[in-house]
Amino acid sequence: MNPYLVFILAIMVGTFILNIIVEKLNLRHFRETLPDEFTDCYDPEKYQQSQRYLRENTRFELVQSSVHTPIVIVFMLAGGFNCVDLAARSFGCGPVLSGLIFTGMLAVGMQVLDLPFSIYDTFVIESRYGFNKTTVKTFIVDLFKGWGVTILVGAPIIAGVFWFFEQTGSLAWLYAWGAVTVVQIVLMFVAPVVIMPIFNTFEPLEDGELKQAIESYAHARNFKLKGVYTMDGSRRSTKSNAFFTGFGKFRRIVLFDTLIEKHSVDELVAILAHEMGHFKKRHIHKFVLISIISTGLMLYILSLFITSPDLFQAFGMEHISVYAGIVFFGFLYSPISMVISTIVNSLSRRFEYEADRYAADTYGKPDALISGLKTLSVDNLSNLTPHPLKVWLEYSHPPVLDRIRALRNAAGSSAQG
Ligand SMILES: [Zn+2]
Repeated sequence: MNPYLVFILAIMVGTFILNIIVEKLNLRHFRETLPDEFTDCYDPEKYQQSQRYLRENTRFELVQSSVHTPIVIVFMLAGGFNCVDLAARSFGCGPVLSGLIFTGMLAVGMQVLDLPFSIYDTFVIESRYGFNKTTVKTFIVDLFKGWGVTILVGAPIIAGVFWFFEQTGSLAWLYAWGAVTVVQIVLMFVAPVVIMPIFNTFEPLEDGELKQAIESYAHARNFKLKGVYTMDGSRRSTKSNAFFTGFGKFRRIVLFDTLIEKHSVDELVAILAHEMGHFKKRHIHKFVLISIISTGLMLYILSLFITSPDLFQAFGMEHISVYAGIVFFGFLYSPISMVISTIVNSLSRRFEYEADRYAADTYGKPDALISGLKTLSVDNLSNLTPHPLKVWLEYSHPPVLDRIRALRNAAGSSAQG
């Protein structure tokens, strides 16, 4: 039997089983009794609700992967990729355009497969718990906007990579890496002003107590603010968030309107101080660097496998092509990308502690950050007691109780001198 086929099937089945184990452990790890830290802001009924929300989401994810995995495996074994390739070739275009048709058809297929799940998630689960604000119209418009951005931004990048691997021989990965990196950096600068406004409305924060408090904190920290914006997150969901985006002239802090609604000025400044902490500690730069390095690694490994006849045979292909090689490589690469994402997550969790510490040290109100974090967790029905394995594999943020503990410890030790 073809070694690539054995390997890819083992990876797919293995990932599926690992996923089930992690989710089961996570469910079993849920504590029936409300943690002491939350007795002042969670009533027992709402805590029960958060448990139901967790169960329902877990079941949903398991059903989704139980449908998804077998379909992909059957499609692969039945020669589906070859059929799509023959259809793409029937247009008689060159290799780059055929590649775009091939990947485009696969992407549409994935979207169709995914659509019932995302409809159910948004309009059934999220609605049941009072989170959903997305109208059917917004949902459909988002879908088209998403495709518009994919075609305008994604397609040229993919076409570029195809072109480099078609044209430039053994150093293709290096050229492709350079090109992808340039595009990635340009996008980081322009996405907040060009792409994000396609989906949401950003408005400068209006004058008032909050703006004054933010400006005086930023001024005291010698932080040059390029703008504090509010975003109409309430258009899609009642869940709230804050984030930092863009670089240089386009650098901005964004607060969801839903966040402003539910938090005191002190909490909001503390949350913002946390976001500034990410910036001051150069966390964003470090992630960009990691992403550039891992892209290079991926493209290099890709160059080793891209035209291996055995790989094409595993997928039942009649023709060898750069574009199909890249798609198939995605299957081979998934264990490596899982390892990378686990490393990135663990780094990200460390950065969260650092940013919390920064906020507490500079704003001087750890309690404001703690109560802000608690309100966020309650409003978003976050799992307060996730299983450590789930955290290790998937969490980009530490569980909220760990963050609160770290903040209290730091406050305690600095009070003692
Ligand atoms: Zn953070």
